[in-house]
Amino acid sequence: MINTIFLVMFLLFALIFGKLFCGKVCPIGYLQEWLNKIPFPVKISKFMGEKWFVYLKYVFLAVMFILPFFGYEQSGHEHSSEFSVTQAIIWGIMFVVFIIVYRPFCKFLCPYGALMGVINLFSPYRYRIDGEKCINCDKCAKVCKMNVNVHKTPNHPECLRCGKCRKACPKKAICAGVKICPFTQDEK
Ligand code: SF4
Ligand code: SF4
Repeated sequence: MINTIFLVMFLLFALIFGKLFCGKVCPIGYLQEWLNKIPFPVKISKFMGEKWFVYLKYVFLAVMFILPFFGYEQSGHEHSSEFSVTQAIIWGIMFVVFIIVYRPFCKFLCPYGALMGVINLFSPYRYRIDGEKCINCDKCAKVCKMNVNVHKTPNHPECLRCGKCRKACPKKAICAGVKICPFTQDEK
């Protein structure tokens, strides 16, 4: 019962706010955010073919929806100590990857992020650009670690709604909210 209530609340939040959950609530998102702040000799902000890798999470999302139709059900596992060591090694590697690459789990793997990204396209919570104020300086795009060009695609599926671009905009030209902004939008 509690699980169902939680699931319904989660879905309602996602339907209204899209990926705002990823940017402001998700603990795995925060973990990656904090780990990525740790100084390291190598930092990768974008790599060749990244634009194709982002579709991987949509494959996981499709698999998640399709599997129950084939009678697959998740079952509990007995955890041996050997498995825990394997798990620890995998987590260790993932932590190092999180330090080097910005939010790789969100970008490439998370099926829930994929779902909420699609909802970004039509959710009532929108980002809008004031065409009168925007001077096309690109400062918003430069600060975005999800590689979204927000002044051109303010409701992009990869946008986490983290708000960093809004803070970076010198003209306060990026508006966010459920209700219509006072200025005319430039929505694509
Ligand atoms: S930072 Fe602001 S003014 Fe500059 S391109 Fe982005 S929205 Fe426009
Ligand atoms: S476009 Fe703005 S709100 Fe979206 S992920 Fe990039 S910096 Fe964050």
